[in-house]
Amino acid sequence: MTTLNDCRAMDADDPLRQLRDLFTLPEGVTYLDGNSLGPLPRATAARVAKAIESEWGEGLIRSWNSAGWFELPRRVGDRIAAWIGAGEGEVVATDTTSINLYKVLSAALSIQAEDAPGKRVVLSERSNFPTDLYIAQALCEDRGFTLKLLEPEQIEGELAKGEAAVLMLTHVNYRTGAMHDMAALTALAHRHGALAVWDLAHSVGAVPVDLRGAQADFAVGCGYKYLNGGPGAPAFAWVNSRHADRFRQPLAGWWGHAAPFEFTPEYRPAPGIVRYLCGTQPVLSLTALDCGLDAIDTSRAAGGMAALRRKSLALTDLFIALAEERCAGHGLSLVTPRDHARRGSQVCLSRTEGAYAIVQALIARGVIGDFRAPDILRFGFTPLYLRFEDVWNAAEHLREVLQDGEWRRPEFNRQHAVT
Ligand SMILES: *Cc1c(COP(=O)(O)O)cnc(C)c1O
Repeated sequence: MTTLNDCRAMDADDPLRQLRDLFTLPEGVTYLDGNSLGPLPRATAARVAKAIESEWGEGLIRSWNSAGWFELPRRVGDRIAAWIGAGEGEVVATDTTSINLYKVLSAALSIQAEDAPGKRVVLSERSNFPTDLYIAQALCEDRGFTLKLLEPEQIEGELAKGEAAVLMLTHVNYRTGAMHDMAALTALAHRHGALAVWDLAHSVGAVPVDLRGAQADFAVGCGYKYLNGGPGAPAFAWVNSRHADRFRQPLAGWWGHAAPFEFTPEYRPAPGIVRYLCGTQPVLSLTALDCGLDAIDTSRAAGGMAALRRKSLALTDLFIALAEERCAGHGLSLVTPRDHARRGSQVCLSRTEGAYAIVQALIARGVIGDFRAPDILRFGFTPLYLRFEDVWNAAEHLREVLQDGEWRRPEFNRQHAVT
């Protein structure tokens, strides 16, 4: 049996323990929802205040040049590239994950319409995040493709039919925390003439990602989850350099033009990834995202992604063990894979009755996780700022909420708009 003292000893040995100080975490809160909205880095408020008061207030329009505003989507993109196995000049930080997915999927369909006109199917997973499926549905309808939704074990067989133009997957499943083998599935897609589009929303900053190594074609991801860029932070888009000068940007705005300040009436796409920009970018939000990257980049001195991943697996292993030891007999089932190679940075438990109310009761106790319909309790474990003692506390609160039936209280059973 694991004890609280074991957890404290793990914290004392943790090479990443000092990184917690980079974040503002409210007293009495155990934050297990950094996979949905990362916490506030301590440096962000002052940095954004400076962007407002000095860069905007004093510099005014000159700051597009003098404060580097114009370069921000590329500069922040290069910093993200280092966390996903991409090269410099291959990533831009811009727009939302939904919008970027629209752009990259559209580009992939255009390439395939030329190279493989007989392939008219887009494959994805039924359990993919809904916005990804909605975007794909709309695009497929507009462009004369068919979207086929599969269970993971059907992917190989469907690809083998040779009808798929694109395999569009989310690397780590938002609901279950299950992680795909990106290199293997990309190779499989390529063998059957399909392009591979990956959504890294629950991967970037959380698990090792090697887009170039996997030879993936396109990727998108999120800035407000494990990158701690703040609510609604810009997302990002990546394209493999072999497609970089070929793809068509469906939202061909002036920021993606080769020379936006020539103000010519004809669109001429910028070389490479820059053509993925559409219009004027949110400078204040990009500045906050830059601070989120400062925080995660600080982990490099203590081992970077290898150290983060090691701790993330230790945190999720510990939570699984504690939930099974201390909450046994309360009807919880583990949804997240035990196999490390197939696990993201979260643990999901299911319970046929009361999953929503249990999460509400935990939140009332300061343990913030979330509920995902219909029956999932989701706990994100972010190695940048969580302690092993936090995992202990979370499991203890879960045990108490279940043991005393506290979750049955009416206030925990009222549904809120955002779960
Ligand atoms: C969080 C998430 C999104 C979010 O998309 P937005 O456009 O930022 O709302 C999209 N896809 C996946 C897989 C996600 O996990």
